[in-house]
Amino acid sequence: MARLLRGGKGSLWKRIRDWAVTDVGVLVRGIDETSLERLEEILLGADFGVSVTARTVVEIETLIRTGELRTEKDVVDAVAGTILGVFGGIEQGSALRRAPAGEPTVWVFVGVNGVGKTTTIGKLAHRLVRQGHRPLLAAADTFRAGAIDQLRIWADRVGAEFVGSQSGADPAAVAFDAIESAERGQADTVLIDTAGRLHTQADLMTEIAKVERVIARKQAGAPHEMLLVLDATVGQNAISQARVFRQALSVSGLVLAKLDSTARGGIVVALAEEFGIPVKLVGTGEQVDDLEPFDPERFAREVLAE
Ligand code: GDP
Ligand code: MG
Repeated sequence: MARLLRGGKGSLWKRIRDWAVTDVGVLVRGIDETSLERLEEILLGADFGVSVTARTVVEIETLIRTGELRTEKDVVDAVAGTILGVFGGIEQGSALRRAPAGEPTVWVFVGVNGVGKTTTIGKLAHRLVRQGHRPLLAAADTFRAGAIDQLRIWADRVGAEFVGSQSGADPAAVAFDAIESAERGQADTVLIDTAGRLHTQADLMTEIAKVERVIARKQAGAPHEMLLVLDATVGQNAISQARVFRQALSVSGLVLAKLDSTARGGIVVALAEEFGIPVKLVGTGEQVDDLEPFDPERFAREVLAE
C-alpha cells in the first residue's frame, strides 16, 4: 500500500529522532527548557496545533523525568500514543452513513475552492461502482461552468450517473432533481458537489445551507453525510475553514485531501482535537484509486515512520 504521507529528510520521525538523540541529547543529559521548546517547535511545525502539542510536550517531559523513556523509539512511541489518544476520544469509524434500505443515500461535499471536493467525489464514485453500487454525481457547484464539466467528466470516466444544470442555476434545485432521479431508480447513492467560492463567504454559506435544507425536506433523514473537504497542505488554515463551515452546517465528517503532498500530517490530529468530528477519508494523490478510509493507527504509524 502506498504511503499516506511524504517521508524522507523532513519527516516528523526524523526530526523527533534527531531531537531525542543528537540535537539536544535529552535522553542522555536529561530534559531542560530549551529542549522542550525544541520539541514544541517540531510538533507545531508539523501542524499538530497548540493544544495537542502542549499535551504531548508535558507527557514526554514527565516520561523522561520518571525514566520511562530510554530510547528514541520510546519517544516516538509516546508521541504516537498521544496521537491515538486524540482519535480515541472521538466516535470513530470511517464508514459513511447510508439511508435505510430502499431509499437513496445522499452525501453532500462542501469546502472552499481547490481543496479537492470534485476529485474526492470522482474517486469515491469509482470505489462505489467497484463495490456494486450505482452512484449519481450531482453538480450543485453551478457557480462556474468548468466545475460542472469537471464533474461530468468524472461521472463518464468511472461509469456513474450525472445530474447537472447550466451555470448560474439554483444549486438546491440540482440537488432536488438528483435525489428525485435516484428515487426513480437511477442510482442508489447521490454525491452532491457544491461551490467553494461565491461573491462572499456569507453568500456561500447561505447557498449551501439552502441545499442542505432542501435535501432534508425532500427526503427525511437526508443528507446522510455532510462531508467537509479540507486540503492537508494548508496547515492551520484548515482549522479556520472548518470553523466557518461548522457554524453554518451540520458537518458530519471530514475528508483530508492531498495528504500525499505534505510531510506535516499533524493537521489531521489538530482537527480531530479541535472539533471532535471523525475523519472519514483521506486523499493520497490525483489518481482514481488515491482515496482511502481513515485509519488512526495506520496514520499514527506513518506520520512517525522513517
Ligand atoms: P475543488 O475545487 O474542491 O472541487 O477541488 P478539485 O477536486 O478540483 O481539486 C483541486 C486540485 O487538487 C486538482 O488539481 C486535483 O487533482 C488536486 N487534488 C485533489 N485531491 C488530491 C489529493 O488527494 N492529492 C493530490 N496530490 N492532489 C489532489
Ligand atoms: Mg470542484
